Amino acid sequence: MPTKPLERLIFAQGGLCFFCQKHLSKVDASVEHLVASANGGGNRDDNCVACCKSLNTLLGSKSLKEKIQVVLNQKGQFQCPNGAQRPAPVCVNAKSPQAVPQAVPQAVTVTKPTADKYSQVVANLRQRGDAKPRTVSKLTKWINALYQNKLPKQELSSLVHQLQAGSVITISGTKVTYV
Ligand SMILES: [Zn+2]
Repeated sequence: MPTKPLERLIFAQGGLCFFCQKHLSKVDASVEHLVASANGGGNRDDNCVACCKSLNTLLGSKSLKEKIQVVLNQKGQFQCPNGAQRPAPVCVNAKSPQAVPQAVPQAVTVTKPTADKYSQVVANLRQRGDAKPRTVSKLTKWINALYQNKLPKQELSSLVHQLQAGSVITISGTKVTYV
């Protein structure tokens, strides 16, 4: 059991900031006295929480009432005012938002926005080597097949346009050439 107040509190809070519930590393953490020392608040754990330093600074020696007000003002989605918070390690169930395109298997799921689809399509095309679709209609079919034929026509043609715009392919007539 950690013995320093900060470490003890972080431990008791399961490694999370008391307020925003984000992963809290010791360097970013500080002890917040709920009733400020200036207002007679004690040092015991029942008056202390570990939280993001930035929030501690903001709360300063506000009264408990004002602090509750600050928390309530966030209407349930409490974020400590950390600005560019460094990405939390391990603790959050963090899936990297940028999946590595090369690792995408042939059949990909349908739920991602078009920007993701575009990079998936490009990555899949690269994997095809010389076996790339050589006509517009084959390419369109092939892209659609990647998404279990569930892509709306508009999205399909916008993907083909993006491939052109991104200089991945050139189209002359019905023929597709890979740049
Ligand atoms: Zn926090």
